[in-house]
Amino acid sequence: MSAGSDKPATYLAQALGHVEPASRGLAPAIYPATTYERDADLTLPGGAEYARDDNPGYTLAEEMLAKLEGGAEAMLYASGMAAAVALFQSLRSGDSVIAPEVMYFGLKAWLQDFGERFGLNVRFVANDADAYAAALKERPAKLVWAETPANPLWQVTDLAAVAEACRAAGAKLGVDNTVPTPLFTRPLELGADYVMHSATKSLNGHSDVVAGALVTGNADDPLWQGAHVQRHKGGAIAGPFEAWLLARGMRTLAVRVERAAANAMRIAEALEARGDVTVLYPGLPSHPGHAIAKRQMTGGFGSMMSVLTGGGQERAYRVKAGLRLFRRATSLGGVESLVEHRRMVEGPTSMAPDDLLRLSVGIEDADDLIADLMQALDGA
Ligand code: PLP
Repeated sequence: MSAGSDKPATYLAQALGHVEPASRGLAPAIYPATTYERDADLTLPGGAEYARDDNPGYTLAEEMLAKLEGGAEAMLYASGMAAAVALFQSLRSGDSVIAPEVMYFGLKAWLQDFGERFGLNVRFVANDADAYAAALKERPAKLVWAETPANPLWQVTDLAAVAEACRAAGAKLGVDNTVPTPLFTRPLELGADYVMHSATKSLNGHSDVVAGALVTGNADDPLWQGAHVQRHKGGAIAGPFEAWLLARGMRTLAVRVERAAANAMRIAEALEARGDVTVLYPGLPSHPGHAIAKRQMTGGFGSMMSVLTGGGQERAYRVKAGLRLFRRATSLGGVESLVEHRRMVEGPTSMAPDDLLRLSVGIEDADDLIADLMQALDGA
């Protein structure tokens, strides 16, 4: 399957040139079967045996994602969490893990809990390449985790530098690439070993699928093989309809994320120009991680930002209540713009200040979104 181009917008729109073998249909089929018939000689002519985890409907989304990330192989999972967890559960009790102190809070909480019960040694370090290097020098690690820009403060981590430190220490590097998407950051090219996605977010893009994925540059890698076993035996698999919706959503990924990132840039500039709020967005020259982001992120800075409204939680809540277009909901990466008081959602251990509102910028008209934010801030 090939759309004859290495440009993501082209091969995504054409779903790698996919044609359904039976019908010549240009839209892929959905494969609901849970079991597949053997021939009289007991071989499996279609390749699939049992739908945990053989589903021909995974192939297209996995091939699109592997190509986008420049990887050798991709695997779909039931959720982003299931994908990340499959890698960590491939470790052995007593293994050492390094993860950033600012990261998706659900995975951080899982690491703390599972690490303790399973006997993993989990250390959290500042979202900064020097901090990773120092931690690796102090004690080696089997698996190192990074997330950049990191939710919800959007620190930028130099992935090439972290990958270099990992290589020197014999550690494997996994990167949560959900927020930038492979359109804007390609961790495998920067030296990472695995990429994880919450495909629930921008990859699907329409807030109607829960799915996750892992990608690797080396399908023979032992942890990758372990993640295969986790999916096959543990059964955290994507449903057939979810896999189909995901491939469908990915066909418009390029146009969605480019538009959302352009909107986000305009919103960040307009908010910063007010002078009464602090904007955390890696695309702004005022952002401490801007220089690294400029080097590492190609073509855009993504659709996620946070705004410190000033005036504590009360003012943040008033701004949030006053928004008319931004939908008050969790999650990110959909076509619709969302606002969330992150500390309320994450709880008392959150790294988010009281006055932080997280924005997931969608593909609506940028002037509409800016006007909405301005009226809510003015009214609060
Ligand atoms: N990583 C990031 C950056 C996320 O925002 C999320 C979900 O919010 C996840 C991972 C987990 O993904 P899922 O909800 O698909 O399990």
